[in-house]
Amino acid sequence: MDKYSPTLEKSARLQTDFKIRIKQTQSWLADELDELRHAITLLADALGGNENLTRQIGDVSIERTDTGTKLGLAYKSRIQFSAKSPLSTWSVIHELAHVWDAKHGWDLSAALEKYTDGFTDPRLSAAKKSIPAEWDAGAEGAEHKPGYYGRKPGVNKYGYFYGDKPSGSNWNFNCKEDFAESTVMYCGWGRDNILSRTAHGRIERYLLSNGSKDPIYDIADNWSDYAPYFYPEGGDYTKTKRWQFIDGLMHDKIKLEK
Ligand SMILES: [Zn+2]
Repeated sequence: MDKYSPTLEKSARLQTDFKIRIKQTQSWLADELDELRHAITLLADALGGNENLTRQIGDVSIERTDTGTKLGLAYKSRIQFSAKSPLSTWSVIHELAHVWDAKHGWDLSAALEKYTDGFTDPRLSAAKKSIPAEWDAGAEGAEHKPGYYGRKPGVNKYGYFYGDKPSGSNWNFNCKEDFAESTVMYCGWGRDNILSRTAHGRIERYLLSNGSKDPIYDIADNWSDYAPYFYPEGGDYTKTKRWQFIDGLMHDKIKLEK
């Protein structure tokens, strides 16, 4: 008989409960597997239970490895987390959302783009570079100073013009990142869990004056200037099309075409 191992046991339970396989269980600490399970459970609860999570997302392996400069990478049936960085509940759900999207042929993010009246047009984005009022980045991309992170619609490397009001945007924003972030926001907003402080902080930062640092990411930016793009009606994120889209998707009220 093998010696009892808490990590092997936790890993086996993830497989049984969610069809999520942990690769190289010995490289994980028991606490990290607990955190992973907690994150998966938050998403499963939002989806109405383990069975739906397994059906929508399950059959995925998770490993910790060298991911370069990224915290996590997601594929159709695999997630890689950086071995060097601590795991966060936010990034676990973010990557699981990418897998969910990938398993549906990336139709979920495309449907979110459409539902929120966004579009992707790299040529229009390039044309905006010459309009200072609409281009909040440098000529080569984002810069680390207030008003240059690339948050306005179309100001990102993909030419993604988000519609309605996302909780945030930066140079790496596109419809896939939008879907992943919208999923995490949904899991944290209006609840009392480990995501809630960040979810609410992402919205409340637009009430800060220009030049101040937000308490979540410690980034100084012109938050007040960005409020018209991101701050929802009455500060209520449930009023946004993103919240409504994810809610509909999770509760089977939104059916994808085809
Ligand atoms: Zn992502």
